[in-house]
Amino acid sequence: MTETFTIEKSLDIAHIRDQFPILKRTVKGKPLIYFDNAATSQKPKQVIDALVDYYSNYNANIHRGIHSLAEEATAAYEATRDEVQRFIGAASREEIIFTRGTTESINLVAFTWGRQNVKEGDEIIISEMEHHSNIVPWQILCLDKKAVLKVIPVNEKGELKMDAYEKLLGPRTKLVSLVHVSNALGTVNPVRDVIDLAHRHGAHVMIDGAQSSVHLDIDVQAMDCDFFAFSSHKVYGPTGVGVLYGKKQLLTDMSVFQGGGEMIKEVSFAGTSYNDLPYKYEAGTPNIADTIAFGTALEFIKHVGKDRIRDHENQLLEYATQRLKQIPGLRIIGEAKEKISVISFVVEGVHPQDLGILLDNRGIAVRTGHHCAQPLMDSFNIPGTTRASFAMYNTKEEIDELIIGLEKAVKLLS
Ligand code: PMP
Repeated sequence: MTETFTIEKSLDIAHIRDQFPILKRTVKGKPLIYFDNAATSQKPKQVIDALVDYYSNYNANIHRGIHSLAEEATAAYEATRDEVQRFIGAASREEIIFTRGTTESINLVAFTWGRQNVKEGDEIIISEMEHHSNIVPWQILCLDKKAVLKVIPVNEKGELKMDAYEKLLGPRTKLVSLVHVSNALGTVNPVRDVIDLAHRHGAHVMIDGAQSSVHLDIDVQAMDCDFFAFSSHKVYGPTGVGVLYGKKQLLTDMSVFQGGGEMIKEVSFAGTSYNDLPYKYEAGTPNIADTIAFGTALEFIKHVGKDRIRDHENQLLEYATQRLKQIPGLRIIGEAKEKISVISFVVEGVHPQDLGILLDNRGIAVRTGHHCAQPLMDSFNIPGTTRASFAMYNTKEEIDELIIGLEKAVKLLS
């Protein structure tokens, strides 16, 4: 029997909210209601404290120093790598490369693995619901290599057309690069099936986990993806740091990305040998403070409990969906069977930007526009949407405020 529980019983929301200092501020004289979590989540005090602690107490460059501060900083930085390994179920810590974020992780694969393995006439498959970060790097590569970029279409509910995907796969398919969860629609893609099919055709698969990593349990080994990317700032950590996971053999065989300190073993003018994994892909002084605080964010999620967070967010999604559907002229964009707590919608005769401004006047932060997914907006024949996305600290009462704000705004604008 499935257990039924209320939002309040499953998570102590008041206690959680207490740990996010920003939630105490007001916007335009109203308490902040932050519904732009798919763009970036807010940061708990523990994460902010970790940044201050590093700069106050053990700021030092890592790996090369033998003094105490350098050792402490190195240990804390490398502890995040272990935390990430556990967070996504990677087989080894050497498979975890720190980058600036999802965007850089995808570009790293395009510029290294892509340059080495994609030849003229080869094919790369993405989908219609990709973020620009998972479109443009492949366009650049395809232009460079005279390769072909193919696109899996999306149905009217915002789900991948799997039959069309199967038809796109062929002997020239080198890579499938797919978003795990759409930032614009909330759709959860059937990545396991997508990966199995690609592997049967001898193609590799990269998964963009920018949105999935905060909501879903990630197990890269069970998923069997070849590459997986995500960003710290969407999992309650700081901006400026992210992860590329790659299967060890692929990362070993790949050429280097950027040259500089740390990624080398020995340098001479006669030639240079490269460092072992994962350092081979981490040239220069990394983002030490943010990486350490990223580890704190992952510990924070573990402590609260990802399944409890997910249950809470799913209840918010269900409640908001029901309430939004009662607003005349409002249409939800993206009604996939499998969804996470992102709701995009359009209101007939009302521009999303105007809605966003009026909601901001009530202290409510939503995102409006194309959500860096212009081709997807084109496929729905809309310029953009208004998007509300929920996190662990959001409440039903905040959704009620959104509905009141929307009803008033729609009356005013239509
Ligand atoms: N992919 C998806 C699905 C995203 O939502 C985002 C961020 N909006 C990105 C990629 C890019 O992430 P970042 O800006 O952190 O590199």
